[in-house]
Parts: sequence; C-alpha cells; structure tokens
Amino acid sequence: MDLFEEDKRLFLAPVRAFDKSLMSAFAEGACTCIRCRDGSGAQVGYKHLHTFDIAGGVFRRRFAGSTQSDIRGALSKAWEAYYKTALPVAGEADLSAIMAMTQGEASRRVGTLLYASGVIADVEGKPHFAPMVA
Ligand SMILES: [Zn+2]
Repeated sequence: MDLFEEDKRLFLAPVRAFDKSLMSAFAEGACTCIRCRDGSGAQVGYKHLHTFDIAGGVFRRRFAGSTQSDIRGALSKAWEAYYKTALPVAGEADLSAIMAMTQGEASRRVGTLLYASGVIADVEGKPHFAPMVA
C-alpha cells in the first residue's frame, strides 16, 4: 500500500481548515480576563470554561471563531471531504474517526474543543452529537 495515497485526504482544504480551527481555538496560557482574575482562575460557576488543561499544557479558549456553529461547520466540511459522506446530525459520535482527520498538536485538542464548543455532549457516558443551540 502506498502511504502517500493513504495520507492524501489529510491535505484536503476542508480537512486542513478543521485542523486550523482546532489550533486557533486555543491560545497558550491561562485566561487573564477580569472574571478569571477575580476568581483566581477557579472558574466556579462558569457555563463555558475559559482555561483548559490539554495534554499537560494550559490553554485559554478563544471564543471568537470557536462557537458551536463555527466548529460544527468546520467539522462537517472536513468530514464530508474526508469520508465522502455527511456528518451525522445526531447520535453517537465516533471520536476516533474525527481524530483520524487531524494531525499532531491538533489531535490532542479535538476532544476538548468538541466538548467545550458544545458540538459533542455525553449521553449516558458516551459522546453524542449535541443539538444546535439557536
Ligand atoms: Zn477568563
């Protein structure tokens, strides 16, 4: 089997764009907004966390560009390009299939971002595609 052939899908524009959105959704270091500073970073009562621990590193979420519809949109375009089929709207989400479209650092962020943006939520302990928030 030709390895290059196998990897070609990773270089499709929508797949790379999804990778990019994973990278741009987080910046290095804890959030320093007033709310986080006042709470000393405890994030108590936050509906959406600002600071995340990803693979041993501390990152803050960039909310602009990482809303549920941003990420769902980027994921669905990547999925269509990579798997030649529509991303399921509901039901159990195959995280490893999503992760297969990503590379390197972006792969480590997939789970965190999909949950943080609300694209995926656990139902009975298993990842499911969440309904869109209007
Ligand atoms: Zn903050």
